[in-house]
Amino acid sequence: MRGWGRCLISGMTDLLYPRRCPVCHGLTPRGRMICPECLGRLPVIEGRRCAKCGKPAAARQVLCDDCVSTRHLFAQGAGVFLYDDVMRETVSCFKYRGRREYGPVLGSLMLQSTRGLIAAWKPDIIMPVPLHPKRLAGRGFNQAELLAEPLARGCGIPLESGILFRRTDTAAQKTLGRQERRRNLEGAFACRDVPLPERILLVDDIYTTGSTVDACAAVLLAKGASRIFFLTLCTGGALPS
Ligand SMILES: [Zn+2]
Ligand SMILES: [Zn+2]
Repeated sequence: MRGWGRCLISGMTDLLYPRRCPVCHGLTPRGRMICPECLGRLPVIEGRRCAKCGKPAAARQVLCDDCVSTRHLFAQGAGVFLYDDVMRETVSCFKYRGRREYGPVLGSLMLQSTRGLIAAWKPDIIMPVPLHPKRLAGRGFNQAELLAEPLARGCGIPLESGILFRRTDTAAQKTLGRQERRRNLEGAFACRDVPLPERILLVDDIYTTGSTVDACAAVLLAKGASRIFFLTLCTGGALPS
């Protein structure tokens, strides 16, 4: 549908379901998913990136310091935004204050800047990093799945959210150091006994040390997948010391 017809429908939809901006949390201008000025405040990662995990990298650095010292199981991945104060607030509202409607907006923003990467990786399926059923019941949704939906739809790749699952409700990773994160996730994920395709794209909200993506990749590789990629909404910075 074109022209006024589409305007009329989107105008009516806006009246029925006013959209809130995932950055300022106010109502967005009609027909927009995010205010234009808030769009400009989003910390898009630009410039040189680590060839493995996509973190910002220094000049002439091929791998970031993390990837020099860690042998990752995933093939390659990237985050879209830096996990700065703006994104911390956005993600916190999305995950912990019930703003489920931010998922499709943030997933669409991810799609805009990762189409090229997805085309290069050619994943057979997209999988959200699963939540433990207890956590899923408490929150009412898996934030990774809401982010993955626009990516899957936009690229015409099947979304598989029932194959990989979480066995243990692990402690929150954010207060843990690098080694503790890996230990915390040992045995946390498992995979249903179904044939897996070769190339799998994992989607999550935040990448910090890669321990979550690696824990998922270990399970998927053991079940027959051969290349695991990841995309996250944000890339986190320094760990707590
Ligand atoms: Zn706004
Ligand atoms: Zn890296």
